[in-house]
Amino acid sequence: MTYAFSIHPSVDNGIQVGDEDFAGGTLVCRCAQDPVRVQVDAQSAYNHACGCTKCWKPKGALFSLVAVVPRDKLRVTEHAEKLAVVDPKATIQRHACRQCGVHLYGRIENSAHPLYGFDFIHTELSPDKGWSAPQFAAFVSSIIESGADPAIMGAVRARLKALGLEPYDCLSPELMDMIATHTAKASGVLKS
Ligand SMILES: [Zn+2]
Ligand SMILES: [Zn+2]
Repeated sequence: MTYAFSIHPSVDNGIQVGDEDFAGGTLVCRCAQDPVRVQVDAQSAYNHACGCTKCWKPKGALFSLVAVVPRDKLRVTEHAEKLAVVDPKATIQRHACRQCGVHLYGRIENSAHPLYGFDFIHTELSPDKGWSAPQFAAFVSSIIESGADPAIMGAVRARLKALGLEPYDCLSPELMDMIATHTAKASGVLKS
């Protein structure tokens, strides 16, 4: 069966399972010359399709694929001078290559944020195989804000489910619970 839309080129033909023993790799931007290289010394976690308007996605894809790694396991090894923060006011500071536009990593600088300590990466930028597979789809309704026809949403959700990517209009229940727990502990409602 062919579809009139692309969820994301990395999952349109089925999802590749990750390698349990995988321990990280290199992310490379799309510049033919002098690409930015980022070394990640960890397997990715919470890999998912994201429909928000902020995450970098390849042309024609409805969703980005985004995962997290501990920020202390990520370092820029080549051509850091080409990186610039896309929106300094955003919660997640997305460091993009000024030449090719790819987002190499996103970082939260507010240490009180529930997801502080995680850097956001796009594992498709890596030639290395074994990164954790996407597990769910987040912020699905938001693709409309990027121009998707609201009429295709039923087909998009059905396609995500068929791929094994349960569609949510926020983050997954596990992540939403984690964020709410952090907030409840910070306010004192929940004793840790
Ligand atoms: Zn580049
Ligand atoms: Zn996103």
